[in-house]
Amino acid sequence: MPFAAVRKVADADFPTRWGHFRILGFEGLTEPGDPTRKPVESAVALVMGDIHAETPVVRIHSQCLTGDVFHSLRCDCHDQLHLALKRIADEGTGILLYEQQEGRGIGLMAKLRAYELQDQGLDTIEANEQLGFEADCRHFELPAEILKELGVTAVRLMTNNPEKVEALEAAGIHVTERLSAAIPSEPSFERYLETKREKMGHLVS
Ligand SMILES: [Zn+2]
Repeated sequence: MPFAAVRKVADADFPTRWGHFRILGFEGLTEPGDPTRKPVESAVALVMGDIHAETPVVRIHSQCLTGDVFHSLRCDCHDQLHLALKRIADEGTGILLYEQQEGRGIGLMAKLRAYELQDQGLDTIEANEQLGFEADCRHFELPAEILKELGVTAVRLMTNNPEKVEALEAAGIHVTERLSAAIPSEPSFERYLETKREKMGHLVS
């Protein structure tokens, strides 16, 4: 079964502190015979307002248990997530795609082991590589397919990661504008942000 098969599994009312969303669950089937990829990926879409009235704000967020739930100061994920939800709430419309792929796709336990290696002096990429992973194991096909399923073909993408812009464009989603997702640096994740900028081409603002 080709990856293009994306299936909506749920669509429910979702009031939050940020405002009123709908919460949708999606499953995507990845290409068969590819040993590096999981057979099924899933993602949640938080949708606010009329996303077809004008080009909506979209944020693609990758699950980070330590940041999203525990408000870790090892990374900027929690602040980025909240910045995006606030922006969507301020505009009254937009989409947050939340991908279940912890630690840029390496999984939670491996991410914790990578933290241990970082405590010994490695940066986030060196640590992933020492554990046998690519620097970034994410693929952005599923978010693109979900956007198409939602009838959205153009977005204002909130990201500092040029690869996300390229991936969406390559998948046929036009990025009309890039909105900054930059978070003021904290001493505890200064090096993490520096590595993302220097080794992964992330933008400063
Ligand atoms: Zn994080």
